[in-house]
Amino acid sequence: MTTRAELRAARAEHGTLGLVPTMGFLHDGHLSLVRRAKEDCGSAIASIFVNPLQFGPKEDLATYPRDLDRDLSLLEATGCDLVWTPGDEDVYPPGFDTYVDVHGITDVLEGGRRPGHFRGVSTVLSVIFNVVQPTRAYFGQKDAQQVVVVRKLVRDLGMPLEVVAAATVREPDGLAMSSRNTYLDPTERERAVVLRRALDAVEKAWQDGEIHGAALRSAMSAVLAAEPLAEPDYVSIAHPDTLEELDHVDPSVGALASMAVRLGKPRLLDNVVLLPR
Ligand code: AMP
Repeated sequence: MTTRAELRAARAEHGTLGLVPTMGFLHDGHLSLVRRAKEDCGSAIASIFVNPLQFGPKEDLATYPRDLDRDLSLLEATGCDLVWTPGDEDVYPPGFDTYVDVHGITDVLEGGRRPGHFRGVSTVLSVIFNVVQPTRAYFGQKDAQQVVVVRKLVRDLGMPLEVVAAATVREPDGLAMSSRNTYLDPTERERAVVLRRALDAVEKAWQDGEIHGAALRSAMSAVLAAEPLAEPDYVSIAHPDTLEELDHVDPSVGALASMAVRLGKPRLLDNVVLLPR
């Protein structure tokens, strides 16, 4: 299905429906969301759309990995009921000139480094939500800021759906699954486990009672610094809802520990929630 009209007609055949928006090149992280959507809602729909609006001019839109045939067979094998694979003009019809901006929380972390990224995400999701009319929409905790932004978008605009965040799915060595992991050469792939080790270090520091933002950030940075191939872009200890950087973490609230690290070509993201204690 590609057009909005085809999608609407197919959607009408289903009642409660769980949506998993993706950019394709699917892996088990995406498929875990589809399974969850299907379990919770009875019917699941995935969208596959590499959204030009969320890529910066120097980013990898042209080379973003794509394999639609493989994606479709994986979705079928996972029991996904519907798949929407719109073209650019199905999502953004000629003359399209409406954009959705969530302010404040998009100025930091990924939003701070990728100007316009979340405007692209919020706009495409507004179109997809309106066309699909899902009961629930499923997102990976892997993109933690995206979850916070989507929750705010849905709440602020009163969109009639529930946002569900699901745990990050990892490779056996702990690397978070990502379509962009395909950019890693074998040596980089091996070294990429350093992100997971940095998260383990900050979790341990938190469990051992550390509450100072600077010390928690250092726990991550020190591990990353020991890997010459890793170039950290940021390490952050932020409030889980406002995404404000914290000097001290309130133990009853916890924090989001997150990082972006360039390793060879890709910029890898990972995070862990430091749970209240
Ligand atoms: P993407 O195709 O990268 O836009 O991702 C589509 C959805 O899958 C987003 O909600 C991501 O957060 C989620 N996702 C990506 N990687 C993972 C992962 N390793 N575990 C869980 N969810 C993921």
